Amino acid sequence: MTETNYDVVSVGGGPAGLCAAMYSGRGMLKTLVIERGLTGGELLNTDVIEDYPGFESVKGPELAQKMTDHALKFGAELVTDTVKSIEKREDGDFDIETELGKTYRAPTVILTAGGTPRKLDVPGEKEYAGRGVSYCAVCDGAFFKGEVLAVVGGGDAAVEEADYLTRYAEKVYIIHRRDELRASQIIQKRAFANPKIEVIWNKVVAEVHGEPKGVAHLTREDTQTGDTSRLDVGGVFIFIGFTPNSGLVKGHYEHDAGGYIITDSNMMTSISGLFAAGDLRVQLVRQITTAVGDATTAAIAVEKYLAEKRDKELEAVAST
Ligand SMILES: Cc1cc2nc3c(=O)[nH]c(=O)nc-3n(C[C@H](O)[C@H](O)[C@H](O)COP(=O)(O)OP(=O)(O)OC[C@H]3O[C@@H](n4cnc5c(N)ncnc54)[C@H](O)[C@@H]3O)c2cc1C
Repeated sequence: MTETNYDVVSVGGGPAGLCAAMYSGRGMLKTLVIERGLTGGELLNTDVIEDYPGFESVKGPELAQKMTDHALKFGAELVTDTVKSIEKREDGDFDIETELGKTYRAPTVILTAGGTPRKLDVPGEKEYAGRGVSYCAVCDGAFFKGEVLAVVGGGDAAVEEADYLTRYAEKVYIIHRRDELRASQIIQKRAFANPKIEVIWNKVVAEVHGEPKGVAHLTREDTQTGDTSRLDVGGVFIFIGFTPNSGLVKGHYEHDAGGYIITDSNMMTSISGLFAAGDLRVQLVRQITTAVGDATTAAIAVEKYLAEKRDKELEAVAST
């Protein structure tokens, strides 16, 4: 069955999707959020947030609940389902197909499906996530003042984040599986000039160990000899890639080499009527504030897009 009674559908119910829905609902647009799990996105994986204005310290799940309630208060509807595909039809509307076999048809879509940091997939990583295992230096660095930390990875993100973490940490080891970094020369130069950074070459993390309060040490494995050794650290930051959930869109749309969606300044993608906001969009930094900022712009741009579309339809009727 196809449901056609929405002006806008947010695909994903993280901070971006919920914020967009709050604005669209408040702007009296018929709004739907389709979320595959519990609403809140990455907020649900975050213990304490200290960098969202107005909240000096707030638990991730608590902020997720507040954002959900706020969107629902202004009339947004929420369904729990997984979107399989988003496709633009010849008449200009979008068909959004879900795993439960439903099709939602709407003139605009805001894609807010976020992305997933790549995991090491080693013992202890999941167990200590949020208790010393982190995928975001800007988010969690301040919790590690005076500690010894490890950063895993060798690309721009890993080396830049290691440099950033030295603001708080006493020492930062970069653990890299090869004998040279992939990061650009300028970023490497800055890291090598930083006395708090030491690179550990040709090693991978084989296990994360901890105690009740969090990470205590790592087992590292030599990629050439297979020898293992212990490294005492208070936290490990993993930067081995991030996969944006942008593959739901059928048809060609502009994206960068990493699959991040390119938009204009109104958050519209290269497909007219399809907007993108939050972590899956090309941008400098991925935070809650940037996700809701994008979403605000997208929701207001959707209103303008729909108003212009209606004007054109009225003009076409008047001219016949
Ligand atoms: C561990 C961790 C800690 C962090 N800490 C902080 C912090 O302290 N401060 C800060 O500002 N930022 C922090 N961040 C970053 C912040 O959480 C993200 O930038 C923000 O959540 C992005 O919001 P989003 O809505 O774009 O994406 P997400 O939060 O990823 O939400 C996307 C949503 O889309 C849903 N979805 C995906 N695919 C589908 C589909 N096919 N169908 C239906 N639903 C789908 C997902 O289930 C998810 O709920 C942290 C990130 C991580 C990973």
